[in-house]
Amino acid sequence: MVLQVALVTGAARGIGEAIARRLAKDGYDLAINDLPSQAPGLEKLQEEIIAMGRRSYICIADVSKENEVKNMIDNTVEALGGLHVMIANAGIGRISPGPLGTLESWDLTMATNARGVFLCYKYAAEVMIKQGQGGRIIGASSVAGKQSLESHTAAYAASKFAIRGLTQAAARELGKHNITVNTYAPGPIDTPMSKTFGLSDAEISAVKEKERKMTVLERIGTVDEVAGVVSFLVSSDASYVTGQTMSVNGGMLLD
Ligand code: NAD
Repeated sequence: MVLQVALVTGAARGIGEAIARRLAKDGYDLAINDLPSQAPGLEKLQEEIIAMGRRSYICIADVSKENEVKNMIDNTVEALGGLHVMIANAGIGRISPGPLGTLESWDLTMATNARGVFLCYKYAAEVMIKQGQGGRIIGASSVAGKQSLESHTAAYAASKFAIRGLTQAAARELGKHNITVNTYAPGPIDTPMSKTFGLSDAEISAVKEKERKMTVLERIGTVDEVAGVVSFLVSSDASYVTGQTMSVNGGMLLD
C-alpha cells in the first residue's frame, strides 16, 4: 500500500502544525485545514511544505459543519489526487464556570471535538473505501480522555472520551478495508491552546506548573513529541496497530 496524501485539521498552529510538517518531511503531500481566521498560519506552513518538495493544498473549513467537511475532503481528493491519511486534530478547550460548566460551552466543545472528528472520520472513510487502497485515520484524544484531572473541564473530558469510543468503533468497522483507526492522547503540551481557556497568564502558569509536576518526566511536552508518535501510527511499522489510544503524556498516567 502506497500512502501519499494526508489531511490535517487544525493545522495552522500547535500540534496540528507540527504533525503536518512532520508528515511532509516523511514524504506525504499535505492538505492543511483550519478556520478562516487562521489562514495566514496555513499560508506560511504551505510555503514550508512546498519548500520541502511536497505538494500542499489549503482547505479552510469549520470541522463542526457537515457540508464544509464534505467539501474539504472532496476538494482535497480533486487537488491532490486522493486521500490516504486523515488526521482529525482540530479541537478546543474551555474552562467553564458553575457545576459541570455551561450548556453553551458543552455544545460548542462537543460540536468541535466530537462531532467534528466524527465527520472527518466518516467522510474520509467513505473516500478510502472507494479508493480500495486501505488508509490511516487518526484523531486527537487527550490524557483527559482517559481520566478527568482538572475541575471545570467536564465537556472537554467527555469529548475526549468520545474520541476513544468512536475510534474503537471505527477500527472495528473499517478493519476489513485495511483502514486502521487510532488516536493520540497528549498530556500537557506547550501550544497556544492554553491561551484560549479564558484564564489569566498567572493562572495558566500555575496550571502548567501543576501539570508539569504530575508527569514522571517532570516537564511539559513538545509538539514534535506528539508529531513523532503520529508519524509512527501513519507509517508501515504500525500496520498491525488499530483501535488504540497512544498516550504521549510524560507518564502523567501510567497504564
Ligand atoms: P491549538 O489551540 O494550539 O490549535 C488548535 C487548532 O485547531 C487551531 O489552529 C484552531 O483554529 C483549530 N480549530 C479550532 N476549532 C476548529 C474548527 N471548528 N474547525 C477547524 N479548525 C479548528 O491546540 P493544540 O494544543 O495544538 O491541540 C490540538 C489537539 O490536541 C486538540 O484536539 C486538543 O484538544 C488536543 N490536545 C492538546 C493538548 C495540549 O496540551 N496542547 C493536550 C491534549 C490534547
